[in-house]
Amino acid sequence: MDKQLNNQEALNFDPDALRKKYKEERDKRIRKDGNNQYKEIAGEFSNYIDDPYVKEKIVRPPLHDEVEVVVIGGGFAGLLAVGRLKEVGIKNVRIIEKGGDIGGTWYWNRYPGAACDTEAYIYLPLCEELNYMPKSKYAYASEIFAHCKRIANHYNIYDNACLQTEVTDMEWEASTSRWLIKTNQQDAMRAKFVIMCNGPFNRPKLPGIQGISTYKGHTFHTSRWDYSYTGGDAKGNLNKLKDKKVAIIGTGATSIQCIPHLAASAKELYVFQRTPSSIDVRDNRPTDPEWVKNLQPGWQKERMDNFNEATSGKIVEKDLVMDGWTEIIGSLVSLAKFRGTEINPAEIPRLMELADFKKMESIRARVDSIVKDPKTAEALKPYYRQFCKRPCFHDEYLPTFNRPNVFLIDTDGKGVQSINEQGILVEGQLYEVDCIIFATGFEVGTGYTRRAGYDPIGKNGISLSQKWANGIRTLHSFHVHDFPNMFVIGHAHGGYTTSYTHCFDVKAKHLSYIIGECLKKGMKEIEVTPEAEQAWVDEIIRVHRNQEAFQAACTPGYYNNEGNPSQLAAQNSAYGKGPIAYFEKLDAWREEGSMKGLKLS
Ligand code: NDP
Repeated sequence: MDKQLNNQEALNFDPDALRKKYKEERDKRIRKDGNNQYKEIAGEFSNYIDDPYVKEKIVRPPLHDEVEVVVIGGGFAGLLAVGRLKEVGIKNVRIIEKGGDIGGTWYWNRYPGAACDTEAYIYLPLCEELNYMPKSKYAYASEIFAHCKRIANHYNIYDNACLQTEVTDMEWEASTSRWLIKTNQQDAMRAKFVIMCNGPFNRPKLPGIQGISTYKGHTFHTSRWDYSYTGGDAKGNLNKLKDKKVAIIGTGATSIQCIPHLAASAKELYVFQRTPSSIDVRDNRPTDPEWVKNLQPGWQKERMDNFNEATSGKIVEKDLVMDGWTEIIGSLVSLAKFRGTEINPAEIPRLMELADFKKMESIRARVDSIVKDPKTAEALKPYYRQFCKRPCFHDEYLPTFNRPNVFLIDTDGKGVQSINEQGILVEGQLYEVDCIIFATGFEVGTGYTRRAGYDPIGKNGISLSQKWANGIRTLHSFHVHDFPNMFVIGHAHGGYTTSYTHCFDVKAKHLSYIIGECLKKGMKEIEVTPEAEQAWVDEIIRVHRNQEAFQAACTPGYYNNEGNPSQLAAQNSAYGKGPIAYFEKLDAWREEGSMKGLKLS
């Protein structure tokens, strides 16, 4: 326990002043239109989600066949689902994927500098099984995408994959006990089971800036990087920008990674900022061959579990990953759990706030130590609690603002006012640019089926959007009553961990067990009972970690539904006891062996 936190005299910041400053910064960003400030990418904007990576459009006859399992989405969740199904002997499995290849997030996000903030040794699944060792502690997108393809090849996933194919409709056919799945390739295929792995950041969004469609220059969204315009590749060297004035709107986790490359290549770079991100140390390094030599079988699972424990509040004997996540989450959570005699438990929220202030002071001091121009440095300092927004880790982003060709246009929390034919307007000043890059993120607070792009119709004609209109309802995050033989792999109602792929794999194994058992027993239908679904919803609400006060005090962003914490936050949340308790629940459920809560017929 940090003694300094217990002794206000020794603090070199004023908590009251910071609290006041955080509130002011938050208040000026709150907008009445909340999530509606963004433009849906549809209609006149639909070109923003065209696939720039496809070289040849797939032309194939429509499929009217039947498979055992359809998995929708070819990201890590989908790949692991197929892989684990095949391991239990279910071979007739088909992935349907909108992109030109599998990979999901790592197919779409190829912007220069794209990388994952979760350590590669735990993020890349199946490293031991596939005998693959990541090249460095943090992997770049191209390495991760290649690993996705390695998994797909290992499990022969390509053999039966429908790429460049979007599900448009999905309906339960009671007469055959099958799902009828229609796609934009005119397929009308049937499947005994469907696993939906649509992904959390699959629908890019645009800011609702006035005049956005009047701009005459070039534009694109970071998740559809236009290398034909910029030149270069994911490593940078964007040679076609050398005579271009480029603007980028947004300064979230994506922007942080591509800005150094844009700055190195463009004639001029204008960074339009509404809220600065917190930028902690990255400290990437190549994989040490000596360390690899000494690894024992089972090392990856051990490391994943250790990370999970360290970031879930368990006191680990040794922090194996030792990264920004284990440091910040681990120290905050262990502080909250502190049961020592020195601290009165009632003091814990205040101490956590102080620990957060202290951490954020160090983040702000880092800006001062790197960025030379004091005005720019001040504008780059985040004034909010660290988990109000997604923390970022980067070592080249801040130094970029010392370059003479880079201009930070801070909008003082208001965002870009308008766009006209020539460029971007802020405070009445026009910034004429050749190109605008939207680093404005993805839909998060919108409905599941809107983001999926299809609305499954279950028994008695009920749609999933109707079913979930008043909040998500599942058993264990997978099963939905009235939607037999359909399973969801997502974040709601499950154990959330910063290492997404770990969770996906646990879920994939669990579902392969359930589907395997159904097929073994010759069962045609499996459906959660209304009682079991209700019991899980009740448990989700009961164990929900109430973050309402914290979120309400946060600067707006997708973590707090743009400053309007959702009324359904409790019901739509992840399992509040954390991933370890959730994984143990699934293990215990399988061990019990009766498929409790599910009706098999
Ligand atoms: P974000 O939603 O995090 O960021 C969007 C940015 O656009 C914010 O800075 C936002 O400002 C800004 N913005 C929105 N509207 C306006 C406007 N009108 N004027 C000016 N600025 C505006 O999207 P990202 O793509 O950066 O990241 C999405 C998520 O993807 C991350 O949170 C992370 O989970 C994941 N990711 C992970 C990476 C990794 O592992 N390293 C890398 C990239 C992404 P404001 O903050 O004020 O809303």
